[in-house]
Amino acid sequence: MCGIVGYIGKQEKRALLIAGLKELEYRGYDSAGLATLEKKCPVLEIYKTDGKINALENLTQDFTSKGEGVGIAHTRWATHGKPSATNAHPHVYAGSAIVHNGIIENYATLKEKLQKKGHVFSSQTDSEIIAHLFEAQLQAQNLQSAPTKEQALQAFQKTIAQLEGAYAILLINTHFPTCIFYAKERSPLLIALAKQGIFFASAPSALSQASQMVRLEDGSIGVLDLHTPFKLEDLGTPSAVIQDSTQSDLEGFQTLMQKEIYEQYKVLTLLGRIKAQRVHLELPKGFLENLSCLSVVACGSSYHAGLVGKYLIEDLAQLKVQVELASEYRYAHFATQAKELLIAISQSGESADTLEALKLAKSLGLNTLAICNTQNSTMSALAHATLLTHAGLERSVASTKAVVSQILTLWLLALELGHKRLSKQALQEQIQALHASMQAIQDALELHPQIQILSAQILKQNPKGYFFMGRGVFYPLALEGALKLKELAYVHAQGYASAEMKHGPIALADCSLLSIALLPQNLLFSKNLSNVEELRARDGLIFAISPTPIDNATFQIQTKPYPHYMPEFFSMLVVLQLFALEMAQLKGLDVDKPRNLAKSVTVE
Ligand code: GLU
Repeated sequence: MCGIVGYIGKQEKRALLIAGLKELEYRGYDSAGLATLEKKCPVLEIYKTDGKINALENLTQDFTSKGEGVGIAHTRWATHGKPSATNAHPHVYAGSAIVHNGIIENYATLKEKLQKKGHVFSSQTDSEIIAHLFEAQLQAQNLQSAPTKEQALQAFQKTIAQLEGAYAILLINTHFPTCIFYAKERSPLLIALAKQGIFFASAPSALSQASQMVRLEDGSIGVLDLHTPFKLEDLGTPSAVIQDSTQSDLEGFQTLMQKEIYEQYKVLTLLGRIKAQRVHLELPKGFLENLSCLSVVACGSSYHAGLVGKYLIEDLAQLKVQVELASEYRYAHFATQAKELLIAISQSGESADTLEALKLAKSLGLNTLAICNTQNSTMSALAHATLLTHAGLERSVASTKAVVSQILTLWLLALELGHKRLSKQALQEQIQALHASMQAIQDALELHPQIQILSAQILKQNPKGYFFMGRGVFYPLALEGALKLKELAYVHAQGYASAEMKHGPIALADCSLLSIALLPQNLLFSKNLSNVEELRARDGLIFAISPTPIDNATFQIQTKPYPHYMPEFFSMLVVLQLFALEMAQLKGLDVDKPRNLAKSVTVE
């Protein structure tokens, strides 16, 4: 989940590495570091710090690394060992420095063995073992003189062969100041060639100097040298570096999250997928024919989108849908059926758990469909077909427009799956609701000033907990609302199916519990209202989100009325996004980079 950057060439390296890291910072930002080597004086220059890339930028402000050489850099999302300067990468042992993304699962056993041989470790990370193993392998060759590149590559291969887990690794060594050794297994690693030199990165956004890149396959391992010409084709299939502007312009907004919420109605379109009152998805012919059932695998907000998809697909297409957390699916041995389609949903198309669930489903013989936001992602390369959600690059860590685009895509999929059984009129109504939803996403922004005032009032009350509740598609929306608030405002929040309150959670109801009730006019309004009454009867605080005035609510945001529950759904989704944003901002928190989180979760 961290970011890796590597460079071989003649340009000043500090600036290139820091610029690359900034592009990747949203992927992990608890600490950062860089290492360089110059040919004219091959000593390792290492800078590491806790905190964000700005801290590394400050730390290195008087440092430059000009001339032919190499540099590697890393922004970390700690898995083993606290975020600190010591645990930050690069990790150095003797003449080698490494950066690593992923987890070395057998590091403890390997470390113990090396400690017995006298190796002293400086960090608590799993990653440091790689530098030690490599140096130990070099030593084991009993060389009388400096190793050749072939000997070093052999030592590197032997090092990698001992590792279990997931990794993208870059290694530099003082004997080879124009070389980077690399290895990739279940963590993304890309290589690009530009006139300035050779670039490595864990995501395309850090490869802005190049136009073509190669996404390495699992099991890739090798060394690249500035002086050994090669073609990108030698490393894999080249593809274009998609140059999304990443250090995104805030365009007058205070935060990326706010910008991304506000641009939802502009960037999300139905993509010309509705033509002549029918949905047309860019899928291979017959891909959706004769399905027995669907399984959806996803994590986090994408999982909530999957749950919304379940309600829509089951209703509109009358097709059974199982939605599973990808991390559970991977190891649970769930049953499969003939003609079952597996759908993997992930914003980045790189989420480790979802990726592995997709691989598993493929190995079980299922047809697979990826729904993701990133062209050229690993998931879309693996799946039999892909539906891109086209939300544009999402930088804020908490997902907003990407989730909305996933839900819209699943809705279109539901209509495509159901087109044979839906009457012309039913289809017409759905298409109208789709258009109304796009409008609702925009309309809801008008509620922002009220949400801001109300958030301040709620914070003042200081509730002990926040329960989000809804029925039907508003149940996964409640889950998503709670997740967003938790991620951003660091308060305890939970989502429930409204009627489930009385099966346990209501035990917590008193005047310090706030329940956020989603009360659409067009879906089970009075049932939801009864659940609100039950909480009020126990002095619970109610924050009602509804187009209908709710008499006994403590707080209310009155959304615009629409003739269908789906535009109501999207309207409330935007309200919940803005609520989480405001709650975090009022608490003075960093909404774009919430603590402990990272955007693209590439570790299990
Ligand atoms: N497991 C490594 C660590 O904790 C790498 C984490 C990452 O991918 O950022 O340092």
